[in-house]
Amino acid sequence: MTTGVARIEQWIEENSRSLTGEEMSDTIFIFKDSVYTLKKTDAGAFDVVQSSGKVVVFRNEQETDDFTCKICGGHHDNRIETIRCCMDRHD
Ligand SMILES: [Zn+2]
Repeated sequence: MTTGVARIEQWIEENSRSLTGEEMSDTIFIFKDSVYTLKKTDAGAFDVVQSSGKVVVFRNEQETDDFTCKICGGHHDNRIETIRCCMDRHD
C-alpha cells in the first residue's frame, strides 16, 4: 500500500533536480485525510510533518453562486442562463 510519506519521498526525489530546498520547504501535501507539510531541517534534510483531520479543499478563488456555472465557472445574469450554460456538456 502506498503511503502519503512514500509519495512525498518520491515527489522530493523527482523535484530535487528542478527545485531548491528552499522552494520545496513548506510544500503542503494532501493524501486522503492527512495533511503533510515539508519542513527543511537545519541539517538540510526534510521532515514530513503530518496532521490528520477532515480535509476540505477549496480550489476556486470565490464561492460559486447561482450565477456562476459550476462546470466552466462562467458568469451569467440569471439562473436560467447559468443552468443552460454547459448543458450540452452534460453527458
Ligand atoms: Zn458553463
